[in-house]
Amino acid sequence: MGHTFKFGLFGIIERGNNTCWKNRNISMSWTRPFLVQCPVQFPFSLWNKTRVLLTHHYCYLRHSPLSNSMAEEGVISLQEWQGWGTTSPFPTMVAQIVEDLKVLEEDLDAHMSFGGNGGKLLGDFRIQEDKRHRATYQALGDSEKKLQFYSARQIACRILGSRGYLCQKCWLPMEDCMCSKVTSCALYPGMRFWLYMHPKDFLRQNNTGKILWQVFGVDAATLCIFGIPEHEEIMWNSFKMAGKSNVWCLYPNKSAVLKSVQNAFGQEAVASEIASSKLKVDTIQHFILIDGTWSNSAAMFRRLQDKAKSIWGDEDLACISLNPGASSMHRLRPQPSWDRTCTAAAAAGLLSELQLIPQFSSIGLDKQEEAVEHALTVLLDALTKRRLRMGRSITRKMRHTNIR
Ligand SMILES: [Zn+2]
Repeated sequence: MGHTFKFGLFGIIERGNNTCWKNRNISMSWTRPFLVQCPVQFPFSLWNKTRVLLTHHYCYLRHSPLSNSMAEEGVISLQEWQGWGTTSPFPTMVAQIVEDLKVLEEDLDAHMSFGGNGGKLLGDFRIQEDKRHRATYQALGDSEKKLQFYSARQIACRILGSRGYLCQKCWLPMEDCMCSKVTSCALYPGMRFWLYMHPKDFLRQNNTGKILWQVFGVDAATLCIFGIPEHEEIMWNSFKMAGKSNVWCLYPNKSAVLKSVQNAFGQEAVASEIASSKLKVDTIQHFILIDGTWSNSAAMFRRLQDKAKSIWGDEDLACISLNPGASSMHRLRPQPSWDRTCTAAAAAGLLSELQLIPQFSSIGLDKQEEAVEHALTVLLDALTKRRLRMGRSITRKMRHTNIR
């Protein structure tokens, strides 16, 4: 699996013998916050930029069904909402923003259209909507409301801009859907992942957090979008029931108590009374994966810790750091830090390290790790194919429009 990816990737880089790709300053980091020790730029970030380049160039104009005269089509149903990878109720504020967009369409007698990936509004409608949403944002009293509005608007636009274009399960354009190649697998019932996702990562093609619920299902790997109260409430209710000692954050925070997987679940810890119940089916261990860019993840982490303090008092949530050398992907691949800087691979790394602890070696965590790695390879292959297919049409003109 590793080889497929490696050659795919190097294939792209070798194609870069034109000035467009080879000389590009790779400054746009795609890294995730799971490893601070190796801030190595990974060439995968090329994909991000080129995707932006390509989508902007070809300008996938997608008219929202809101543009149709049938107003009802503008409403996002509960079924549509949940189809994107969640079991939560449809967020009230997202519904409100969709409604407001619909009203704005009528007011302006202009059609709403979206371009690129991620639900960016286009044209005159965008200018008008921009004025309105900025005014709404400014008028909001406190920072909590501002965050909720910001997140809800992102989600509303991303859904409206992606419907009919992205596959709801894999978040890839339908012609690149990878779903048939992903093999699902049951996660060990004593574990649960929470994808604490920044709204800007929602419906991103190259997001890897989505892989986890594709493989393990939404009850074992659950999406929680930062600033969406309906999501955060579900997550925190689960944490409250589980108790603080069973909640872990995969985030290498220097000021927090950092534990290695061995420390948290290995022999030392198992000797203590509290940890003796760790990783048993009847006590679910909750692992939070912060699914945002490095710059966004600091605020996300702070929000988690503030909430934890408000529930449990002063002590921080326990943070787990992964061992850079433990993952099988790391052994297979020459790339220095890729395997720990994307969200799905961090989950795979955790499974891999738990597998190494003798008392957990027989519960099939290695199979679950393999399932994640396989899905990750499938995603990378799909993105590579897409990019190469579109890359054929790159013209000289667009090479100069790639800076974001
Ligand atoms: Zn799909």
